[in-house]
Formats: sequence, C-alpha cells, structure tokens
Amino acid sequence: MLDAGQSRGVSVDHYDILIVGGGHAGANLAIGLRQRKFTGSIAIVGEEPELPYERPPLSKEYLAGDKPFERILIRPAAFWQERDIAMLTGQRVTSVDPDGRSVTTAAGQAIGYGELVWAAGGHARRLACMGGDLAGVHSVRSRADVDRLMGELATTRRVAVIGGGYIGLEAAAVLTKFGKTVTIFETQDRVLARVAGRELSRFYQEEHRAHGVEMRFEIMVDAIVGADGRVTGVRLADGEISPCDMVIVGIGIIPAVEPLLSAGAEGGNGVAVDEYCRTSLPHVHAIGDCALHANPFADNLPIRLESVQNANDQATIVAKALTGTLEPYAAVPWFWSNQYDLKLQTVGLSAGHDAEVTRGDPASRSFSILYLKEGQVVALDCVNATRDYVQGRALVTGRSHVAPERLADTDIPLKEMALLSQDGSALDA
Ligand code: FAD
Repeated sequence: MLDAGQSRGVSVDHYDILIVGGGHAGANLAIGLRQRKFTGSIAIVGEEPELPYERPPLSKEYLAGDKPFERILIRPAAFWQERDIAMLTGQRVTSVDPDGRSVTTAAGQAIGYGELVWAAGGHARRLACMGGDLAGVHSVRSRADVDRLMGELATTRRVAVIGGGYIGLEAAAVLTKFGKTVTIFETQDRVLARVAGRELSRFYQEEHRAHGVEMRFEIMVDAIVGADGRVTGVRLADGEISPCDMVIVGIGIIPAVEPLLSAGAEGGNGVAVDEYCRTSLPHVHAIGDCALHANPFADNLPIRLESVQNANDQATIVAKALTGTLEPYAAVPWFWSNQYDLKLQTVGLSAGHDAEVTRGDPASRSFSILYLKEGQVVALDCVNATRDYVQGRALVTGRSHVAPERLADTDIPLKEMALLSQDGSALDA
C-alpha cells in the first residue's frame, strides 16, 4: 500500500504507481486511484498510440461507422492532464526487474516504480497456417486493426470469418449490413461453443443465416491462399478453396504476459494472481484479460475473463488495495454482445452446466436461457430480455435451486423466484 500524499510527479522516469497497458483495466485503475484521493504519481505506459479507448465498439458501432473514434475514448485528453496521470503512449514494456522495481521499454528506456500493475490484456491470436500474413487478413483487437480493415472494405466483396465466437459473429453482422457476402468457418459443430449452450448457438446460427451469412462447421482452415501478396481464398483441410478477398480472424487472444513471466511471475495462460489481484512478485498486481485468477463463479478454477466487467472490477479491487482497503475479488461475471437488432446480456458462467431451461419463445426474438448445474442456477443468457437479465442476476449470485418448470414460466418474474429462494422457501415443487 502507498500513502496518499507521496511524491507526485517527482521525476519523469519513476512513478509511485506504474500501470502497464492503457486498456479498460489500466485506465479504470488510474481513474479509481484519483477518485480515492491517491495523490502519488501515476503513469500508464501503453504500446498503442491512442489514449485509452473502449474496445467493444471495435466490432460493433465503430466498425459500422456509427461512432467516431472520439466517442469511444474512455476519457477525453484533458481528463488525464487535469488529474496528473502521465500517458506514456506508443511504448511497449519488454522487461521487468522486480528487484530493482523498474521496467524497460522497447526503446530501451527504464521506468522505476513503487507499485507495478500489469494490465496488458492480450494480443489477437494469429493464424499459424500458411498465408496467415497475407494482405487482407485481419484481426479485430485494436483501433489500428479495424482502421486497416475498414480501409479495404470498399474493394471487398466476399469475407471469410475464421472463428464463430462473439467477435467473429459481431463483425459478420456489421459486414452483412454493408452488403458483403460472409462465410463463417468454425472448427466446432456450432457457434459460441466455448461460451454458451446449444439453444443459444442454434438461435444465433438461424439469425445469421437469415441475414445471408453462410456457416461452415467442423472445418479446419488449412491455409490462406493469395496472389500478388493478397488473399484470394481460404483452403480447407480437404483441399477445397473457398474464394474471398478478406479474412477476419477471430480465434481468441494470447495474454500479453511474457515480460512478467520472464521476470519470474507464476502463470502460463496469463499471470497468476490471488483474490487481491497480487502476482507472485512483490509489488506487482495484474488485472483484466491477462489475469489468471480463481473465480468463485467457475468453482474457483483458475480462469481468465475477457470482459469489460472483469477489467473494471479488478481495477477497483487494486485501486482499493493501493489506497489501503483490502477486498477480495468476487464479482459476478457479466457480458454483452450486439448483433443485428439483438442485444445479448449474460451473467454468470455457463461452462460445465448440465441442464438448460429456455424461458420465452426464441421465435419471438426475446427470450432467456437459464443454465443449471446440479440443480443450481449458474448462468443466464438473455436476448432482448433486459428484465430477465436484471432480475435473474440474484438467482446466479445466490446459486438458487429453482425447479426448471418454474424458471420456464414467463408468468412468474425471475425477481419473485430470487426473493423466494433467498427466503429459503421451497422452489423445487
Ligand atoms: P486491453 O483492453 O487489451 O488493454 C491492454 C492494453 O495493453 C492494450 O492497449 C495493449 O496494446 C497494451 N499492452 C499489451 N502489452 C503491452 C506491453 N508489453 N507494454 C505496454 N502496453 C502493452 N467485452 C465485453 O464485456 N463486452 C463486449 O461486447 C466486448 N466486445 C469486444 C469486442 C472486441 C472487438 C474486442 C477486441 C473485445 C471485446 N470485449 C468485450 C472484451 C473487452 O474489450 C476486454 O475484455 C477488455 O478490453 C480487457 O481490458 P484490458 O485492459 O484487460 O485489456
């Protein structure tokens, strides 16, 4: 912990709190520290050239051209200046010296710290196959990625989306609006296989098909083929070549933790943190997409959550810890996704569920799915059903036991079931 009142801006190469990564987690930590009256020096060192911005619109409103970049900044430039938060943009940290309490950037500059918070998120996983580096192959992780992609849209007719996760589906939804012919290639037998149950996958598949998106499942892309350095198609494992003039790769991220792990921090797929977001290195916390933590909503298994909620909540935990209030991280995970006119809101983690209950009629395009594990509600996916989302949270946080037929009964508000289950009243009948 640092005392509020320590040296403020004493030198340009030493900060009381140094934050690596200016994404949702890093930015919200700095904001939280100042809100909690921390008066020591703070810097955010980030490899992107921009001030912190919101990432979710990159596959939604920003890609669609509905929001200019200025409107997705987390705060305007003046905010950081007024609060004396140094923004060291365009600088990548390449090594950490935990004994000397300093980091070094790619340009060779050493920056000292009192406390280091690693909030470096992750980098888009690239295709390992041949042709993965051809012009016209894109990721959707940063503003630069999306600007590059948008710059090619005018000359693009057919797009191959590799990966049927949220980012691939959101991009597909925007691109069909632009009149592009989109094909999604997915190795699993359905979209959203990692994060949702079969009913939700089925619903989104039908929606995308209704918008003209072609879906190809259980298919491996073997190579990206091209001519004159530019993509012309994807080659599948059986040799078929599916023509396209753009490829969007949405196959997840690789956590950006190499400098920390090289410095001796524990981890692997992310940097391991305890419930206070402390790494195994002294004076080093980690938050956001890169933090591998035991999550109470995943049976305390070590996971990384890739969501704005997690980035913000872990930032709050560390802002509190560094200003003297130690509080464990135990927030319920939640997430959203916008595709076409569908707003999906999810709460909890459905992985490992053993039953699904559909509440409402998917054909009405407003319904919810409740996920159960050993009779307890562990997660909720709500499509155009904000009331269920708001009212059903308590069922997830309380891991309520409610009979499936009751959960499915849209005449009973979820709020009522949550209240009754808190009372301990029998809801199994
Ligand atoms: P990031 O936002 O990735 O920020 C990390 C920053 O650190 C980056 O700027 C990175 O360049 C920088 N960095 C990395 N390594 C270094 C280094 N060595 N030195 C210096 N800087 C470094 N979540 C939702 O909840 N809802 C959504 O609808 C949603 N949609 C999304 C759509 C897209 C297209 C993407 C890409 C993500 C979406 N997410 C969504 C996920 C969400 O944006 C992330 O969970 C969130 O951005 C994580 O914040 P973070 O600060 O941990 O990491």
